[in-house]
Amino acid sequence: MTRYIMAIDQGTTSTRAILFDEAGKIRGISQKELPLFYPDNGWVEQNPEDIWEDTLYVCRAVLNQLSVNAIDVAAIGITNQRETTVVWDRETGEVLYNAIVWQDRRTAGICDALRAAGHEDLFTQKTGLLLDAYFSGTKVQWILDNVEGAREKAEAGKLAFGTIDCFLLWRLTGGRVHATDITNASRTLMYNIVTQDWDDELLALLRVPRRLLPEVRDNSGDFGRTDMLGAPIAIGGMAGDQQAALIGQACFKPGMVKSTYGTGCFALMNIGSEFRPSKNRLLTTVAYRLGGDVCYALEGSIFVAGAAIQWLRDGLGILKSAGETEAMATSVENNGGVYMVPAFTGLGAPYWNPHARAAITGLTRGASAAHLVRAGLEAQAYQTEDLMRAMAEDAGKKLTEIRVDGGMVKNNWVCQFIADITATPVLRPAIIETTALGAAYLAGLHAGIFKSVDDIAARWQHERTFDVQMPADARAPLYAGWQKAVGQVLAGT
Ligand code: ADP
Repeated sequence: MTRYIMAIDQGTTSTRAILFDEAGKIRGISQKELPLFYPDNGWVEQNPEDIWEDTLYVCRAVLNQLSVNAIDVAAIGITNQRETTVVWDRETGEVLYNAIVWQDRRTAGICDALRAAGHEDLFTQKTGLLLDAYFSGTKVQWILDNVEGAREKAEAGKLAFGTIDCFLLWRLTGGRVHATDITNASRTLMYNIVTQDWDDELLALLRVPRRLLPEVRDNSGDFGRTDMLGAPIAIGGMAGDQQAALIGQACFKPGMVKSTYGTGCFALMNIGSEFRPSKNRLLTTVAYRLGGDVCYALEGSIFVAGAAIQWLRDGLGILKSAGETEAMATSVENNGGVYMVPAFTGLGAPYWNPHARAAITGLTRGASAAHLVRAGLEAQAYQTEDLMRAMAEDAGKKLTEIRVDGGMVKNNWVCQFIADITATPVLRPAIIETTALGAAYLAGLHAGIFKSVDDIAARWQHERTFDVQMPADARAPLYAGWQKAVGQVLAGT
């Protein structure tokens, strides 16, 4: 009889449940779109009750769809949009405020004040992060300071904080388990990834009482069980989405890199068991902890990847669908000197400039829609090269391959161009749903379906390799053109 693993993938724009079989093959998917709310300039919220109801809905739907009994699900793995913050009442289970989403900028002023007081270095040395509104800590502070009575309740131990993984776990276990995993904890600005504990000094600076915080566990292990799906099912794995993708890509050795091209682009490099803060404005974060052994990663976050293609489609109307971009890009011989710097919401790593805005440079009367599309696709490779250079410098060695995933890598031309500009072979996996796969691997490890990370690594398969084809003398002027365009954008801030 087949045993299944269920992955819950709670993302920013949708919630999905995916059933994998014991071989790690996808058997079924159920998905529900999730609305975002923008109540004020730079504010981004979601309703935690929507997130919870959608999660239950997709879990039940995927079981029904395949006529699978909950008894045949060996374990559940949870992966989630990271940093998004929920605070709830331990007694009533009610949330105090909407979920404040990772994209929300309302706490930028709190970060500025902490930076002005000279605290950024302390946060970086302990958390590997930069002081940015992106992370959870200042969002918790905002809820405690702005919801009536919240601070008193928090001091009295009546409230609980959690990122989405933790909130879902608490609900799935009927309030029995208030725990998170170390990758999600590492995105809060409150968790010391060196000592692997919540940090009292940082908590004092953020004015967050320790009593609010969940217990932090390994990524694979006993997270309790849920009785909500018809029969008790163990929850055996948990990781933030980008770390889950790193695991789903089987990047278990130092130096291995995965790069995900969805709405944004997130590249992670395994750096092994030693914590090292980046010297090149990347983040250091926990890749995973298994059996008590921690592994760190360098992370480069770029806010706009596929979103640039969406803008060409919806903002400019020069495309009907993202799938057309490949033919358009190859309809012209080269970029014609046109570059797009897609800094629609500022520039992320390694520039971290929230004031930058997007630009298209090098336009002549010969420029066509195809050149703009090509520039939008080319930008993905140049942004990747920016990150790879920073990573190689931090790691002290050149990368040997890049494992790619995300909706954009269906585009063969983009994959080839990334290989050419980074001068590094690009590997596209057979299973492109790497985030859910990573969560399934973690749960399957706990359930004994997968024996070890070596067992998982042996199962990982690539569908295609894109080898470097471009000669160095063609690459150099292209990348120099990008650097010039970025320079123009930065000069305008
Ligand atoms: P997310 O998980 O962030 O919602 P996905 O991984 O589903 O995103 O990727 C969707 C993104 O990929 C969209 O922004 C879309 O524009 C882009 N995309 C999808 N197909 C292609 C393609 N063939 N060429 C280029 N971009 C594509």
